[in-house]
Amino acid sequence: MSGLRVLVGCKRVIDYAVKIRVKPDNTGVITEGVKHSMNPFDEIAVEEAVRMKEKKLASEIIAVSCGPTQCQETLRTAMAMGADKSIHVEVDAASYENLQPLHVAKILAKVAQDVKADIVFTGKQAIDDDCNQTGQMVAALLDWPQATFASKIEKANGDLTVTREIDGGLETIKVQLPAVLTADLRLNEPRYATLPNIMKAKKKKMEKKKPEDYGVDIGPRQSILKVEDPPVRQAGSKLDSVETLVSKLKDAGLVPS
Ligand code: AMP
Repeated sequence: MSGLRVLVGCKRVIDYAVKIRVKPDNTGVITEGVKHSMNPFDEIAVEEAVRMKEKKLASEIIAVSCGPTQCQETLRTAMAMGADKSIHVEVDAASYENLQPLHVAKILAKVAQDVKADIVFTGKQAIDDDCNQTGQMVAALLDWPQATFASKIEKANGDLTVTREIDGGLETIKVQLPAVLTADLRLNEPRYATLPNIMKAKKKKMEKKKPEDYGVDIGPRQSILKVEDPPVRQAGSKLDSVETLVSKLKDAGLVPS
């Protein structure tokens, strides 16, 4: 099973360390002037694809990002980590605000057919919208098996054995290729791109496409009515002794007096 072609979805999202601020008109969150990075689960997917290549399981890794021009930085990062080439599917900033998992899934499915991918690899979820839908939808559109929330991937003859993180434990399944995989947190620790690899990535090929090139209509299918901050939590207080704590709990009726 050497020579697998792996397509990796790489979403540009607000960096996980940024404190998110809601727009004053409650239509969304503030993105201008805010640090963005590759979705952390997508970094894990890229890393796993690179490890597959290092183990000679994969022969080519293609990173895809759908979104505005800045997504090209995300793709350069993927290529600096080891992706061979990339495809930027340009969606202007205004349309990107309404780009939904089904749109992205349709694009990824078409790209997968176009490049004859054996594996479509996505993150388990994007940390901005927390949808956790795109990989599953790609699998449905292509009618391929899916192994989501992967925390370990091994080859088994012509198939893959995938350990999945599920509620209450781990599930091991066998999937036939071609397949869709989605990366969970414990799959690996992504490498940092080294300076020489960042330089090399500048020379790697990046194709520019549009959703229309894949026949995908990105017209919105749902609208966001309102975005709000979560309710503010009441501040805690420090007490100087256990006796004070017990008396406060009694006063609040939380322990019998
Ligand atoms: P979601 O279903 O939105 O939580 O996204 C799940 C995964 O789909 C992400 O971790 C990415 O791998 C992929 N994905 C979502 N949106 C995009 C995008 N705009 N461009 C490329 N990949 C994406």
